[in-house]
Amino acid sequence: MPAIKKNLETINGLIAETARSCGRNPEDILLIAVTKKKNAETVMEALRCGAVHFGENYIQEAIIKIDGIGKENACWHFIGHLQSNKAAIAVKYFEYIHTVDSVKLAKEIDKQAKAIHKIQKILLQVNISKEKTKSGTDAETTMDLVRQIHGFENIAIQGLMCMPPYFDDPEQARTYFRGLLEIRDNILAHPFPNVSMNHLSMGMSNDFRVAIEEGATMVRIGTSLFGERN
Ligand SMILES: *Cc1c(COP(=O)(O)O)cnc(C)c1O
Repeated sequence: MPAIKKNLETINGLIAETARSCGRNPEDILLIAVTKKKNAETVMEALRCGAVHFGENYIQEAIIKIDGIGKENACWHFIGHLQSNKAAIAVKYFEYIHTVDSVKLAKEIDKQAKAIHKIQKILLQVNISKEKTKSGTDAETTMDLVRQIHGFENIAIQGLMCMPPYFDDPEQARTYFRGLLEIRDNILAHPFPNVSMNHLSMGMSNDFRVAIEEGATMVRIGTSLFGERN
């Protein structure tokens, strides 16, 4: 059996097992196959093996693959840092943008989505570990961001995304995942129109099981499916 097929089966099995172990429905958790730095052939292979959701980090790299594979043949998620001047391309190609962290970026996405008559699904990236090197809004200002952008007509806020530091022991990431859940609950306690908090995008190859235990609905997995990146 090709490695990707086997890896997909393994990961899907672990997702289901973890979900059941904490009383969740495995179908509520989407596996996003992260294909940054992997070629179109690898993405095609994963598609043939049943992967549906793909995550890409770099716009230029992504659009070459998406054009080759067909936008309509998979569900594309943008999970990298997005500059406002690339918002138009991101809106054109991606079903979800996980990394909105400023009013400026949200405004530009809204404008570009309006231009092509699209309602762009977005998640707000929270810098939950307050690392200087990471993008995202501060935990404390996430609510302000929601307040400032929820009225934009061509974006639909679907939830939150975070990326804790890497730990050898994934248990150490739990506190960050729980922190994102708390922010979600705070936002839900305010009835913002046009805001759903259905998704928590959290958990990567080494910590996705802990993330699922803490409520993840989207796990973003690269290395465990496709091997190390160059
Ligand atoms: C690369 C990347 C992933 C996947 O990480 P792995 O450890 O390879 O599973 C997930 N999310 C984001 C935002 C990434 O940049």
